[in-house]
Amino acid sequence: MRIDVLTLFPEMFDSPLSHSILKRAQDAGVVNIHVTDIRKFTEDKHGKVDDKPYGGGPGMVMRCQPVFDCVENVSSQSTDKPRVILLSPQGRVFNQRLAEELAGEKRLMLIAGRYEGFDERIRIGLNAEQISIGDYILSGGELAAMAIIDAVVRLLPGALGDEGSTQDESFADGLLEYPQYTRPEDFRGMKVPPVLLNGHHAEIEKWRKQQAIERTKLWRPDLIKRL
Ligand code: SAM
Repeated sequence: MRIDVLTLFPEMFDSPLSHSILKRAQDAGVVNIHVTDIRKFTEDKHGKVDDKPYGGGPGMVMRCQPVFDCVENVSSQSTDKPRVILLSPQGRVFNQRLAEELAGEKRLMLIAGRYEGFDERIRIGLNAEQISIGDYILSGGELAAMAIIDAVVRLLPGALGDEGSTQDESFADGLLEYPQYTRPEDFRGMKVPPVLLNGHHAEIEKWRKQQAIERTKLWRPDLIKRL
């Protein structure tokens, strides 16, 4: 998979992309991630990429020209047509199902907004879909893009050491994951449930399923309704 990120703050991606699973996945050729600075494409002699909103109001709006030129340049760097996504609080709310859907694509292009967001003609002219990472306002789309990249890349074959581990996690089957324990068996009087120590795989499986259902009912009843 190829992922392009278009942003006014490319350096923000340096650290997240150079550690742990995201780094390993890139080193292994599972994913190629390219971060491009939108500002490099502005025709404004002062390097401006934003302007005041028509009709008045607070803040600034990202202008069409630098974004369109950046998208066109980056698109032409590969023959695969990208699925173009604007990060926006007004978009489809990201979840594990959408992560799985995006993981099936050959190429993603994530465009991070800043200021008061994008000139509306960017969404319309690029025929872009919008994705939100939740009902709150971030200062920019960079953190949202990173969350999406992380969730998508870990689903790609070969990204994780243990291939099974994405199937076992919360949301994979619509439930929260069962509780996990590791050594010691007794920590300050808090004991590991005996069923996990008896080696009966069927019993462990049954217990885990029950626990997953119980904690989902308790903490995320909305997920149970969707099953
Ligand atoms: N004025 C916009 C509105 O009310 O819809 C919000 C602009 S926000 C301050 C600046 C940028 O941050 C947005 O263009 C978007 O790229 C990003 N952003 C903010 N919240 C987000 C969210 N929940 N999910 C995805 N991106 C978000």
